[in-house]
Amino acid sequence: MPTYVRTDKCDGCKGQDKTACMYICPHDLMKLDRDGSETGHAMRAFNQEPEQCWECYSCVKICPQQAIEARHYADIVPLGGMVQPLRGSDSIMWTIKFRNGTLKRFKFPIRTTPEGSIDCYGGKATADMAKIAEPGFFNHMEQNGYRPGNPAELIRK
Ligand code: SF4
Ligand code: SF4
Repeated sequence: MPTYVRTDKCDGCKGQDKTACMYICPHDLMKLDRDGSETGHAMRAFNQEPEQCWECYSCVKICPQQAIEARHYADIVPLGGMVQPLRGSDSIMWTIKFRNGTLKRFKFPIRTTPEGSIDCYGGKATADMAKIAEPGFFNHMEQNGYRPGNPAELIRK
């Protein structure tokens, strides 16, 4: 079930070239309607292909205005319910609204190290750009300790 944008909350990411939801969507579904010609809501984003949305929640989590919500499957979140995350630098606060109006909030830690402190390539050898065109460049045995696959080791029945 796809996401939708609450036009009362979206501010179009203040007119930046690429909005946060456009940046993060792995399926390139979010679009900013700059002049309102597509939705009637100028400077508001929208999900341009809802049937293609896989509900990954990336846009919901990144939106600084909490303007994106997801329509959930009815057996998980019945009509009228809502699940909304508020992302912090070390945790996410989930707000659950039940159909009867009951609100519950859960705060979950999302990391164990300070934000921005991870060295993604720590301990790895520097890439040799002269080898960029070679097959297997990123897993050369000598660089990462990997070795080519051995078909004899495949599990066959
Ligand atoms: S990230 Fe949120 S505020 Fe920014 S354009 Fe998308 S829906 Fe609107
Ligand atoms: S939930 Fe995921 S796939 Fe759907 S619009 Fe948002 S970022 Fe894209």
